[in-house]
Amino acid sequence: MKYCQGPLCHTYDTKDRKRGPKGNKVNQTRRRSQFYYGGSNFCSLNCQNDWFEEFGNRAIDYFGRITQPIVLEEHNAWRKRYRWGYGDNEDRHIMYNMITHEERNITEQQFNDDNYPLNT
Ligand SMILES: [Zn+2]
Repeated sequence: MKYCQGPLCHTYDTKDRKRGPKGNKVNQTRRRSQFYYGGSNFCSLNCQNDWFEEFGNRAIDYFGRITQPIVLEEHNAWRKRYRWGYGDNEDRHIMYNMITHEERNITEQQFNDDNYPLNT
């Protein structure tokens, strides 16, 4: 079990956040075995947004703010694609270059291999 990381989670007034005896109830941060937002850290998109509002700028500065455009060029533009066949053409696994639009056939095994080098 883990707690939602939303800094304001406890301020949202819902039944499942209430704890304690009648007449002396408090609202508590949600606790679950699994969350579905923000890498399983937040109980809701609201809580994820609250976190970013509070910590986002510091997190970006800490991990590295993008200050120059990241560029997609021929050398890093290869992606794996699946081409459905039509007519006499069979289905194919290919590497596709998003910049040059070049296609190279690869085997299904290479397609499924997460370590198969893409950017060459
Ligand atoms: Zn939450």
